[in-house]
Amino acid sequence: MAPGRRQYSFSHRIRSTLNSLFHPLLSALYSLPVMNVAFLGLGAIGWPMARRVAEAKFPLAVWNRTSSRAREFAEATRARHAASPADAARDADVVITCLPNSPEVMSLLDGDDGLLATMRKGATLVDCTSGEPATSRRIAERLGDHGVDFIDAPVSGGVSGAEKGALTVMVGGDRAVLDRVRPVLESFGQKIVHCGKVGAGDALKAVNNALLAVHVWSTAEGLALLVKEGVAPATALDVINASSGRSNASMNLFPERVLTRAFPRTFRLALLDKDVGIAAAVASADAVPAPLLQLTAALWKLAHNSLGEAADHVETVKIIEQWAGVEIA
Ligand code: NDP
Repeated sequence: MAPGRRQYSFSHRIRSTLNSLFHPLLSALYSLPVMNVAFLGLGAIGWPMARRVAEAKFPLAVWNRTSSRAREFAEATRARHAASPADAARDADVVITCLPNSPEVMSLLDGDDGLLATMRKGATLVDCTSGEPATSRRIAERLGDHGVDFIDAPVSGGVSGAEKGALTVMVGGDRAVLDRVRPVLESFGQKIVHCGKVGAGDALKAVNNALLAVHVWSTAEGLALLVKEGVAPATALDVINASSGRSNASMNLFPERVLTRAFPRTFRLALLDKDVGIAAAVASADAVPAPLLQLTAALWKLAHNSLGEAADHVETVKIIEQWAGVEIA
């Protein structure tokens, strides 16, 4: 680990420990505003992120479409179990959403149960969904009409990163709004980066995940042909990981999930398909020629259709194995 990074992690750990121990006390002593938080969407990554917010001692209300999951979370953490998005947001300074995509976030805004029914002027919606830049801009506009701020703040680092409070958060929107809500983001984020205007976080996240998709697919193709050439996958990865073809896929995903045949379900293939689709659509909208991105989007759509909603993204490797008639093990 580089010295700078070690220093950063260390100071982050101290800061986040102090924050969780003393945040309520310091807030009382110095009249710092205690931020009430609402968290909507307790899925695979939303749950550990919300847990970090609860552990940092922010007063927390949670809502989930399947309410048994929110009830279970509330019982485990003493968060308030809200009956609807409007109920969750009623006292909130910061509302965090973590849903599959931006249209689902948009669908929570309206009606008696919707966020706009109760979100206060000056409150902020922090959307941690890996979403669509254009839809985020529309959401920001709608909220702006009600005096509510918006930032898109998708995350990377996976479920294990969320559990450790070590996510990277990529933020689009007003820097001053980010600074206001930063203490909340620090409960689950280790590296919090302002990327540009609203939608910039979404765009960067989509490109990052498109690169992940390229790496998983191309590493599987390469290893399948090497198996046919009689090279053991472990030997191949050993060499690739000491050479210029390495990636997170070759260094972590393949050794831990493919060679072991463990294929744990932590990040759904359906969601990665969605992310690559967003990157490809943004490239088209911006008139950026991106043949590799467009092909990658088509391949992951095919994998999604073939393996279904519950499959993990790394299980896509099974399709390449099937086509090649080999197992990468
Ligand atoms: P999951 O599929 O595990 O959970 C999705 C969540 O959204 C659930 O709480 C689900 O509720 C809720 N939901 C789905 N549809 C709707 C809807 N129409 N209205 C209201 N709520 C809805 O997803 P993840 O937690 O894995 O991912 C959430 C976001 O984070 C996605 O954008 C994903 O791309 C991103 N992400 C995920 C990572 C991971 O490792 N898992 C890593 C980085 C980013 P219910 O319980 O009722 O189904």
